Amino acid sequence: MSSDDDRGRQRAGSAAAPAPHPPGARRRGLLFIVSAPSGAGKTTLVERLVEQTPDLTMSRSYTSRPPRGGETDGVDYNFVSRHRFEAMVRDGEFLEWASLYGNLYGTCAADTENLLSAGRDVVLVIDVQGARKGRAAGVPTCTVFVMPPTFAILEQRLRGRSKDSEAEIQRRLQVARDEVAAFSEYDFVIVNDEVTSAVDRLHSIVVAERARLQRMHDEAETIVRTFS
Ligand code: ADP
Ligand code: 5GP
Repeated sequence: MSSDDDRGRQRAGSAAAPAPHPPGARRRGLLFIVSAPSGAGKTTLVERLVEQTPDLTMSRSYTSRPPRGGETDGVDYNFVSRHRFEAMVRDGEFLEWASLYGNLYGTCAADTENLLSAGRDVVLVIDVQGARKGRAAGVPTCTVFVMPPTFAILEQRLRGRSKDSEAEIQRRLQVARDEVAAFSEYDFVIVNDEVTSAVDRLHSIVVAERARLQRMHDEAETIVRTFS
Protein backbone atom coordinates (compact mmCIF):
# COMPACT_ATOMS: atom_id res chain seq x y z
CA MET A 1 0.00 0.00 0.00
CA SER A 2 2.99 2.27 -0.08
CA SER A 3 2.27 3.91 -3.40
CA ASP A 4 -0.99 4.72 -5.03
CA ASP A 5 -2.25 7.09 -7.65
CA ASP A 6 -5.96 6.69 -7.03
CA ARG A 7 -7.24 10.25 -6.84
CA GLY A 8 -10.95 9.43 -6.56
CA ARG A 9 -12.84 11.94 -4.44
CA GLN A 10 -15.67 10.95 -2.17
CA ARG A 11 -18.47 13.24 -1.02
CA ALA A 12 -18.92 13.62 2.69
CA GLY A 13 -22.62 12.82 2.51
CA SER A 14 -22.44 9.41 0.94
CA ALA A 15 -19.12 8.72 2.59
CA ALA A 16 -20.14 9.34 6.15
CA ALA A 17 -23.54 7.70 5.87
CA PRO A 18 -23.90 4.73 8.20
CA ALA A 19 -25.86 1.67 7.17
CA PRO A 20 -29.49 1.65 8.33
CA HIS A 21 -29.88 -0.07 11.67
CA PRO A 22 -32.86 -1.50 13.52
CA PRO A 23 -34.65 0.83 15.94
CA GLY A 24 -33.06 0.68 19.38
CA ALA A 25 -29.78 -0.72 18.03
CA ARG A 26 -26.60 1.15 18.84
CA ARG A 27 -25.78 3.66 16.12
CA ARG A 28 -22.58 2.88 14.23
CA GLY A 29 -19.88 5.54 14.64
CA LEU A 30 -18.62 7.82 11.92
CA LEU A 31 -15.10 7.63 10.55
CA PHE A 32 -13.15 10.86 10.01
CA ILE A 33 -9.78 11.12 8.29
CA VAL A 34 -7.51 14.09 8.92
CA SER A 35 -4.40 14.47 6.77
CA ALA A 36 -1.76 17.18 6.52
CA PRO A 37 1.92 17.52 5.80
CA SER A 38 4.08 16.62 8.78
CA GLY A 39 4.40 19.69 11.05
CA ALA A 40 1.20 21.39 9.85
CA GLY A 41 -0.35 20.81 13.28
CA LYS A 42 -2.84 17.99 12.71
CA THR A 43 -1.94 16.16 15.93
CA THR A 44 -2.24 19.37 17.96
CA LEU A 45 -5.66 20.12 16.45
CA VAL A 46 -7.09 16.61 16.69
CA GLU A 47 -5.91 16.15 20.28
CA ARG A 48 -7.76 19.35 21.24
CA LEU A 49 -10.76 18.31 19.16
CA VAL A 50 -11.20 14.96 20.93
CA GLU A 51 -10.78 16.64 24.33
CA GLN A 52 -13.72 18.90 23.64
CA THR A 53 -15.94 16.48 21.69
CA PRO A 54 -17.84 13.72 23.52
CA ASP A 55 -17.88 10.28 21.87
CA LEU A 56 -15.01 11.09 19.52
CA THR A 57 -11.84 9.02 19.72
CA MET A 58 -8.48 9.44 18.01
CA SER A 59 -7.29 6.17 16.56
CA ARG A 60 -3.90 4.91 17.73
CA SER A 61 -1.77 3.82 14.80
CA TYR A 62 0.91 1.17 14.61
CA THR A 63 4.36 2.22 13.47
CA SER A 64 7.79 0.72 12.95
CA ARG A 65 9.32 4.14 13.76
CA PRO A 66 11.21 4.23 17.04
CA PRO A 67 9.59 6.44 19.72
CA ARG A 68 10.77 10.06 19.89
CA GLY A 69 11.67 11.54 23.27
CA GLY A 70 8.48 11.95 25.29
CA GLU A 71 6.46 9.45 23.24
CA THR A 72 4.96 6.45 25.01
CA ASP A 73 4.07 3.06 23.57
CA GLY A 74 0.32 2.49 23.64
CA VAL A 75 -0.34 6.23 23.96
CA ASP A 76 1.17 8.06 20.99
CA TYR A 77 1.47 4.95 18.82
CA ASN A 78 1.66 1.22 19.16
CA PHE A 79 5.38 0.94 18.47
CA VAL A 80 6.27 -2.38 16.87
CA SER A 81 9.28 -3.82 15.04
CA ARG A 82 9.36 -3.69 11.26
CA HIS A 83 9.20 -7.48 11.32
CA ARG A 84 6.00 -7.45 13.38
CA PHE A 85 4.47 -4.71 11.22
CA GLU A 86 5.18 -6.71 8.05
CA ALA A 87 3.57 -9.79 9.62
CA MET A 88 0.47 -7.71 10.37
CA VAL A 89 0.39 -6.56 6.73
CA ARG A 90 0.63 -10.17 5.56
CA ASP A 91 -2.20 -11.15 7.90
CA GLY A 92 -4.43 -8.39 6.50
CA GLU A 93 -4.71 -6.66 9.88
CA PHE A 94 -4.57 -3.09 8.53
CA LEU A 95 -7.44 -0.98 7.28
CA GLU A 96 -4.75 1.06 5.54
CA TRP A 97 -1.01 1.46 5.86
CA ALA A 98 1.77 3.47 4.26
CA SER A 99 5.53 3.69 4.04
CA LEU A 100 6.70 7.19 5.02
CA TYR A 101 10.14 8.62 5.67
CA GLY A 102 11.57 5.08 5.78
CA ASN A 103 9.08 3.83 8.38
CA LEU A 104 5.77 1.97 8.23
CA TYR A 105 2.53 3.38 9.67
CA GLY A 106 -0.88 1.73 9.74
CA THR A 107 -4.40 1.68 11.17
CA CYS A 108 -5.52 -1.61 12.70
CA ALA A 109 -8.83 -2.68 11.10
CA ALA A 110 -10.09 -4.55 14.18
CA ASP A 111 -9.37 -1.66 16.60
CA THR A 112 -11.28 0.72 14.33
CA GLU A 113 -14.19 -1.66 13.83
CA ASN A 114 -14.52 -2.23 17.59
CA LEU A 115 -14.81 1.51 18.20
CA LEU A 116 -17.24 2.13 15.33
CA SER A 117 -19.48 -0.78 16.23
CA ALA A 118 -19.55 0.47 19.84
CA GLY A 119 -20.98 3.72 18.45
CA ARG A 120 -17.84 5.82 18.88
CA ASP A 121 -16.89 8.29 16.17
CA VAL A 122 -13.24 7.79 15.23
CA VAL A 123 -10.61 10.13 13.77
CA LEU A 124 -7.67 8.69 11.84
CA VAL A 125 -4.75 11.11 11.60
CA ILE A 126 -3.06 9.61 8.58
CA ASP A 127 -1.12 10.63 5.49
CA VAL A 128 -2.40 11.26 1.99
CA GLN A 129 -1.57 7.74 0.76
CA GLY A 130 -3.49 6.18 3.64
CA ALA A 131 -6.53 8.38 2.96
CA ARG A 132 -6.46 7.28 -0.69
CA LYS A 133 -6.36 3.66 0.39
CA GLY A 134 -9.34 4.18 2.68
CA ARG A 135 -11.34 5.72 -0.18
CA ALA A 136 -10.23 3.06 -2.66
CA ALA A 137 -11.38 0.35 -0.25
CA GLY A 138 -14.80 2.04 -0.14
CA VAL A 139 -14.53 2.74 3.58
CA PRO A 140 -17.19 5.38 4.39
CA THR A 141 -15.35 8.47 5.64
CA CYS A 142 -15.48 12.22 5.99
CA THR A 143 -12.06 13.57 5.07
CA VAL A 144 -10.37 16.80 6.15
CA PHE A 145 -7.12 18.27 4.86
CA VAL A 146 -5.19 20.58 7.19
CA MET A 147 -2.87 23.10 5.54
CA PRO A 148 -0.23 25.34 7.09
CA PRO A 149 -0.73 28.99 6.10
CA THR A 150 2.52 28.96 4.06
CA PHE A 151 5.54 26.79 3.33
CA ALA A 152 7.73 29.07 5.47
CA ILE A 153 5.39 28.60 8.46
CA LEU A 154 5.47 24.83 7.98
CA GLU A 155 9.27 24.95 8.10
CA GLN A 156 9.16 27.08 11.29
CA ARG A 157 6.75 24.61 12.94
CA LEU A 158 8.87 21.60 12.05
CA ARG A 159 11.94 23.33 13.49
CA GLY A 160 10.03 24.64 16.53
CA ARG A 161 8.88 21.12 17.36
CA SER A 162 12.59 20.18 17.67
CA LYS A 163 11.86 16.51 17.35
CA ASP A 164 13.56 15.74 14.05
CA SER A 165 17.11 16.05 12.75
CA GLU A 166 17.88 18.63 10.07
CA ALA A 167 18.00 15.86 7.45
CA GLU A 168 14.62 14.60 8.61
CA ILE A 169 13.14 18.11 8.49
CA GLN A 170 14.39 18.55 4.92
CA ARG A 171 12.89 15.19 3.97
CA ARG A 172 9.51 16.11 5.47
CA LEU A 173 9.51 19.49 3.69
CA GLN A 174 10.25 17.77 0.39
CA VAL A 175 7.39 15.30 0.88
CA ALA A 176 5.12 18.22 1.91
CA ARG A 177 5.51 19.78 -1.54
CA ASP A 178 3.68 16.79 -3.04
CA GLU A 179 1.24 16.33 -0.18
CA VAL A 180 -0.26 19.84 -0.23
CA ALA A 181 -1.28 19.32 -3.85
CA ALA A 182 -3.64 16.56 -2.67
CA PHE A 183 -5.95 18.98 -0.82
CA SER A 184 -8.62 18.76 -3.56
CA GLU A 185 -9.17 15.04 -2.86
CA TYR A 186 -10.69 15.89 0.54
CA ASP A 187 -14.20 16.86 1.63
CA PHE A 188 -13.03 19.81 3.77
CA VAL A 189 -9.94 22.02 4.03
CA ILE A 190 -8.79 23.76 7.22
CA VAL A 191 -5.96 26.29 7.23
CA ASN A 192 -4.24 25.93 10.60
CA ASP A 193 -3.49 29.59 11.18
CA GLU A 194 -4.50 29.79 14.84
CA VAL A 195 -5.11 26.71 16.98
CA THR A 196 -8.37 27.66 18.73
CA SER A 197 -10.06 28.85 15.58
CA ALA A 198 -8.87 25.85 13.55
CA VAL A 199 -10.15 23.45 16.26
CA ASP A 200 -13.50 25.26 16.22
CA ARG A 201 -13.77 24.73 12.47
CA LEU A 202 -12.87 21.04 12.84
CA HIS A 203 -15.47 20.71 15.59
CA SER A 204 -18.10 22.28 13.32
CA ILE A 205 -17.39 19.65 10.69
CA VAL A 206 -17.92 16.84 13.21
CA VAL A 207 -21.14 18.42 14.46
CA ALA A 208 -22.44 18.86 10.90
CA GLU A 209 -21.60 15.27 9.94
CA ARG A 210 -23.44 14.03 13.02
CA ALA A 211 -26.55 15.93 11.92
CA ARG A 212 -26.72 14.43 8.42
CA LEU A 213 -30.06 13.03 7.37
CA GLN A 214 -28.90 9.44 7.04
CA ARG A 215 -27.51 9.48 10.55
CA MET A 216 -30.52 11.22 12.04
CA HIS A 217 -33.14 9.34 10.04
CA ASP A 218 -34.28 6.84 12.69
CA GLU A 219 -34.39 9.41 15.48
CA ALA A 220 -36.37 11.78 13.26
CA GLU A 221 -38.83 8.99 12.37
CA THR A 222 -39.33 8.31 16.08
CA ILE A 223 -40.16 11.98 16.63
CA VAL A 224 -42.53 11.93 13.66
CA ARG A 225 -44.39 8.99 15.24
CA THR A 226 -45.10 11.10 18.35
CA PHE A 227 -47.16 13.38 16.07
CA SER A 228 -49.59 10.64 15.01
P1 ADP B 1 1.74 17.27 12.81
O1 ADP B 1 0.98 16.35 13.69
O2 ADP B 1 0.93 17.75 11.65
O3 ADP B 1 3.07 16.71 12.38
P2 ADP B 1 2.11 18.89 15.21
O4 ADP B 1 0.74 18.87 15.79
O5 ADP B 1 3.17 18.06 15.87
O6 ADP B 1 2.07 18.60 13.64
O7 ADP B 1 2.55 20.43 15.19
C1 ADP B 1 3.84 20.82 14.74
C2 ADP B 1 4.33 22.00 15.62
O8 ADP B 1 3.55 23.15 15.28
C3 ADP B 1 4.15 21.76 17.11
O9 ADP B 1 5.27 22.31 17.79
C4 ADP B 1 2.87 22.53 17.43
O10 ADP B 1 2.87 22.99 18.78
C5 ADP B 1 2.93 23.70 16.45
N1 ADP B 1 1.63 24.22 16.03
C6 ADP B 1 0.54 23.51 15.66
N2 ADP B 1 -0.47 24.34 15.28
C7 ADP B 1 0.00 25.59 15.39
C8 ADP B 1 -0.55 26.92 15.16
N3 ADP B 1 -1.80 27.09 14.70
N4 ADP B 1 0.22 27.98 15.39
C9 ADP B 1 1.50 27.82 15.84
N5 ADP B 1 2.09 26.63 16.09
C10 ADP B 1 1.35 25.52 15.86
P1 5GP C 1 5.25 11.06 12.62
O1 5GP C 1 6.46 10.23 12.34
O2 5GP C 1 5.56 12.55 12.54
O3 5GP C 1 4.56 10.67 13.90
O4 5GP C 1 4.19 10.79 11.46
C1 5GP C 1 4.57 10.87 10.14
C2 5GP C 1 3.35 10.75 9.25
O5 5GP C 1 2.73 9.48 9.40
C3 5GP C 1 2.26 11.78 9.51
O6 5GP C 1 1.86 12.33 8.26
C4 5GP C 1 1.14 10.94 10.07
O7 5GP C 1 -0.14 11.47 9.80
C5 5GP C 1 1.33 9.65 9.34
N1 5GP C 1 0.67 8.55 10.00
C6 5GP C 1 0.58 8.30 11.33
N2 5GP C 1 -0.12 7.19 11.54
C7 5GP C 1 -0.51 6.73 10.33
C8 5GP C 1 -1.29 5.60 9.88
O8 5GP C 1 -1.78 4.80 10.66
N3 5GP C 1 -1.46 5.45 8.55
C9 5GP C 1 -0.94 6.33 7.66
N4 5GP C 1 -1.19 6.10 6.36
N5 5GP C 1 -0.22 7.39 8.02
C10 5GP C 1 0.00 7.59 9.34
